[in-house]
Amino acid sequence: MARVALVTGGTRGIGEAISIALNTAGYTAVANYGGNDDAARLFTERTGIPAYKFDVSDYAAVESAIAMIARDIGPVEVLVNNAGITRDGVMHRMTFEQWNAVIQTNLASCFNLSRAVIDSMRERGFGRIVNIGSVNGQSGQYGQVNYAAAKSGIHGFTKALAQEAAAKGITVNAIAPGYIDTDMVRAVPPHVLEKIIARIPVGRLGKAEEIARTVLFLVAEDAGFITGSTISVNGGQHMY
Ligand code: NDP
Repeated sequence: MARVALVTGGTRGIGEAISIALNTAGYTAVANYGGNDDAARLFTERTGIPAYKFDVSDYAAVESAIAMIARDIGPVEVLVNNAGITRDGVMHRMTFEQWNAVIQTNLASCFNLSRAVIDSMRERGFGRIVNIGSVNGQSGQYGQVNYAAAKSGIHGFTKALAQEAAAKGITVNAIAPGYIDTDMVRAVPPHVLEKIIARIPVGRLGKAEEIARTVLFLVAEDAGFITGSTISVNGGQHMY
């Protein structure tokens, strides 16, 4: 039986590429999304991959969605915590709402999702969890105290859970993408983006597919000795 692989924020951007790559590699891919019904509908029409709408920052909603996916499709054996948002602003102008939304959606979501799947992964003696961090969680970034804190938190979360889960055949790893050509990065003003690209040794933005291939590597059956790692995929922008 193909393993069920859930990708949060799996209908657009990096998550979409991850969902498609997993599906193509023979997993039973399932995508989650938060609010953009049109994008999700088009994604499912295009790929045949089912999309489940729930807010990853809502613990109770996540718990019932994971139970529903288990009933509809099967227990989640591969989890990619990818859903994320930015709400940028310098500290002296940042509101509590901006701070909280980013922490809840990017970091608390990793707890909510992992908590909901961990018992069944432990019982089955197999699991793969991949958390999508960011170069900005490694290096910090002006105007992103909230986002850098959340993404940096993901790296600590990954290492702690990897230690706890290892004995049960569950690996937990993170990927720290650099700047990838998605809607999130297209929202950056062009003059700022130009300066960012000038600092990337490879000389271009990354492609979502380049993150997806790293996910495939980490979730493979024979990747059981790789755990607690963070793989940077950033065109050489930051060497950690
Ligand atoms: P996009 O904005 O293109 O897509 C974000 C996805 O997350 C969408 O599917 C969106 O759903 C979903 N989402 C957002 N909030 C929620 C929520 N509360 N509940 C459920 N789903 C939600 O983002 P990217 O593809 O660019 O980014 C994907 C991940 O990669 C993020 O964690 C981001 O921080 C990280 N990253 C991105 C980089 C980049 O350069 N693009 C660089 C480094 C890290 P919906 O369609 O419904 O809005």
